[in-house]
Amino acid sequence: MRTPTNKQIDGIARASPTRRLAFWVGGALGILWASPLTAVGMILALPVLLWRGKVHVVRTKTPALMISGPVADYILDRHPFGPMCAMAIGHVVIAEKRGLTPQVLTHELAHVRQAACWGILFPIAYLAASVWAVLHGQDAYWHNVFEVAARRAEKHA
Ligand SMILES: [Zn+2]
Repeated sequence: MRTPTNKQIDGIARASPTRRLAFWVGGALGILWASPLTAVGMILALPVLLWRGKVHVVRTKTPALMISGPVADYILDRHPFGPMCAMAIGHVVIAEKRGLTPQVLTHELAHVRQAACWGILFPIAYLAASVWAVLHGQDAYWHNVFEVAARRAEKHA
């Protein structure tokens, strides 16, 4: 089954040279802007890698390193918001060992794009969105605007 991200890549391949250049420059700036978060993601992923971990390069419009293994499963089961399938920190996606569905990968890549857009401000913005939700009597995770946007992206997977 083709993933939506492959469709995006196909669209870029057919785009004009100017659009392709803008895409690659924008992508490079996003990677640079999110690099402090990616560095934190790599530090968190290190124990996952060291103990039977696997690295998968996600080659899509939103590039990422997906890292999985038994340690990832352990960490994700104990996530502060409850058990998770995956979590994105910058351009690093820590994923459960059995892999991700296209929907979950699309969700996580939405977070990668959010990190590329907000850079080092992303954790602060994410926490502020959770606080905002709680102050309005909503759930800190489920009603966080970044999660709402990522779930919306999933629907196009
Ligand atoms: Zn999410």
